[in-house]
Amino acid sequence: MLEGITILEFQDRFRTEDDCLDFIEKLRWPKGFRCPNCDHDFGYRLRTRKLIQCGVCRRQTSVTAGTIFHKSRTPLRHWFWMIFQIAQDKGGASSVRLAKQLGMFQSTVWNQLHKLRHAMQRRDEGISLAGFIELDEAVIGPHARKTGRQKEKQGGPRLKKLGKRSTSRKRRKTQTEVIVMVERENGSAGNIVMKVVYKTTRDGVQEAVEQLVDENRQTFKSDALQSHFVVRSLGHQLFAKPLSGSDLACEELPVVHRAISLLKRYLMGTYHTVSSRYLERYLSEFSFRWNRRDSERSLWLSMLRAACFALPMTYAELKL
Ligand SMILES: [Zn+2]
Repeated sequence: MLEGITILEFQDRFRTEDDCLDFIEKLRWPKGFRCPNCDHDFGYRLRTRKLIQCGVCRRQTSVTAGTIFHKSRTPLRHWFWMIFQIAQDKGGASSVRLAKQLGMFQSTVWNQLHKLRHAMQRRDEGISLAGFIELDEAVIGPHARKTGRQKEKQGGPRLKKLGKRSTSRKRRKTQTEVIVMVERENGSAGNIVMKVVYKTTRDGVQEAVEQLVDENRQTFKSDALQSHFVVRSLGHQLFAKPLSGSDLACEELPVVHRAISLLKRYLMGTYHTVSSRYLERYLSEFSFRWNRRDSERSLWLSMLRAACFALPMTYAELKL
């Protein structure tokens, strides 16, 4: 019922903190509250606090415990609005825009958005690719400068594909490599997984494939030179083709190249520059949206669910 909810309906539905709290309670206990202490199903909400008291053992359970909202000073209505807003657009929403809408500090909204991205990351941790997989590498760099020819090829001013790597030490330092893998079936895309490479590309490919791909023998296609040895050594099949022209590469690896192009548009369009330190979280938001693109209307509900089942982040985790 709440899947295709409009912005006005959303505002009507979540007018108060209690509305939001009721909704979280329903998401956490869809079949009704169960006491974690005695497993009894009778509990009542203490209206003055975010607690449910068990009618038998009288133990109090927080409605928001175990969610990213726990102990947050940000009102639930604000949290809900942020979630609804970032689910409305493929580009998400920036902390600057949301801070203006909600009358909050930009730094606070930035923190809350990163907690949400962390929740999305946790939610998709179980995804393991299988079948026919396209693999490629992308370089994301906030200060990467390119020649006119490269700009034309890649369609963006600050991001570039691997293989045309800059020789400048300064530029290399500001660029981050990302391994991108997408399932392909009958020409259409399946799930996507991405991983930031912190070591050498070869180690990065190995780590990504080991962690994010089903360990049984899968079939890969790639034009990334570093992946050849690694993918085969892990027991997978690989169709490798060093592709020179960008048109040919797009033809041979259409799905992964479309994903990389959309990823760059998402990062550039909404955030302009992204720190490599936090890049993985932005990748999580992008992947979360991609992996649920068939149910766009209920995306905000999926994000809310992720927020309700991810453990709260500590300050150290938030700031890395
Ligand atoms: Zn109890």
